[in-house]
Amino acid sequence: MNNTDIFDLSSAQAVAAIDAGTLSSGELFDAYRARASNDELNCFTWLAEQAPKDATTPPSQSPLNGVPLAVKDLFCTEGVPSQSGSRILEGYRPPYTATAVARLEEAGATLLGKTNQDEFAMGSSTENSAYGPVRNPWDPERVPGGSSGGSAAAVAAGLAPWALGTDTGGSIRQPAALCGIVGLKPTYGAVSRYGMIAFASSLDQAGPLTRDVTDAALMLRHMVGRDPRDATSLQFPEEVSLPSAERLDGVRLGVPQELTGEGIEGGVLEAFQATLARAEELGAQVHSVQLPHAPHALSAYYILAPAECSSNLARFDGVRYGARAQDAHDLLDMYTRTRHDGFGAEVKRRIMLGTYALSSGYYDAYYGRAQRVRTKIAEDFKAAFAEVDLIVTPTAPTVAFRLGEKTADPWSMYLNDYCTVPMSLAGIPAISIPCGLSEGLPVGFQIAGPVFSENRLLDAAYALEQVLGFDGSPARVSGAGGPA
Ligand code: GLN
Repeated sequence: MNNTDIFDLSSAQAVAAIDAGTLSSGELFDAYRARASNDELNCFTWLAEQAPKDATTPPSQSPLNGVPLAVKDLFCTEGVPSQSGSRILEGYRPPYTATAVARLEEAGATLLGKTNQDEFAMGSSTENSAYGPVRNPWDPERVPGGSSGGSAAAVAAGLAPWALGTDTGGSIRQPAALCGIVGLKPTYGAVSRYGMIAFASSLDQAGPLTRDVTDAALMLRHMVGRDPRDATSLQFPEEVSLPSAERLDGVRLGVPQELTGEGIEGGVLEAFQATLARAEELGAQVHSVQLPHAPHALSAYYILAPAECSSNLARFDGVRYGARAQDAHDLLDMYTRTRHDGFGAEVKRRIMLGTYALSSGYYDAYYGRAQRVRTKIAEDFKAAFAEVDLIVTPTAPTVAFRLGEKTADPWSMYLNDYCTVPMSLAGIPAISIPCGLSEGLPVGFQIAGPVFSENRLLDAAYALEQVLGFDGSPARVSGAGGPA
């Protein structure tokens, strides 16, 4: 098969071509490896030299047939740098592999490379990486979103057939939206967090970033399940099926006023409304719903996530992992200097915010209150799902912004997650699909559902994908890093 044809295949199609014997997994790996090594977008922090032996010989007829996989840097991968975008973990090669990655490898996926990200997944633009910012393949002067920006840009630019990311408050969905690809945040607990370098453990969840909805279902199918090494992981109640719905007859879509009005860019709202009209043509009923506490989600999130991170990141002390400051005169000096030199500005800001919020005397005023808001938000969703099947919003309030545009103002950066954080706090699944362009840049359409409604989300997303006919290929063809 020639290279143009290879790069046209989705992952599911590549699996089928390998099954049919028209493509070998080695050929597929080599094609992507060669392309990824010309990465001009800074998507990768590490690339595999070659496919493991068993993947270069024709397929073992595994479900994923050796299809190369890009993996966000914060997943531990045995013997392979896993630095979570941070200087403090420079050169860290873990002795074990995260369950999500291990499961995909067991199903036949081949590790292609590790992808760049915001440091410890804190950010919405991938500008907070110690390894330099990632660029958006639609316009290299713009950000790809974050924190899984390397994963999203790599898939959008065709440097990887698909990628693994994580989402704490929007880090799969928002970069997927800004890069014009599909991103799915599963139900909290659906995928094991074992071996993911933790940011905020009650929110972190791994999920797929893919070219289309079918690939997202295929990847999710091989990731989910209870893992005894993550006490919060759950048995997925059914098999994740490959979507096939063509219609949305009788599906009740709820549009929350709170997340579809003020603060959303005009062009984004237009694309969102146009997509709702397509959904109605497919038979969906559109209803207005209320999520009265959703406007407080960001404020609660920016107490809870920093509180959890201040505790999780206490382990980086220069003793056990990664970098250690030299020339310290005593132990305390070594801790202080290691953390001073090792963490970037945003991570330090969050550690300080979180430590303050948890400090004695303030705990109830901040952390306790934020937890109560979190409960209210979950209750809002429950009430809404008594009236509608799915909730839809724009994924991000704007299209991809320019590098440097929001770095001086953290709150304007945080606002990127206005529409994605409520679902994270409620622990429910949500998918972003590309639904059109505004100012020549992709817009994401978010569909959220109750706990474990992934199959329904994927079906609705698939039906819409067919009629929207969004073509991500201009980015793959004309973007930096596109085919030679
Ligand atoms: N942008 C949000 C933050 O900075 C969400 C990040 C994420 O989901 N990992 O915390």
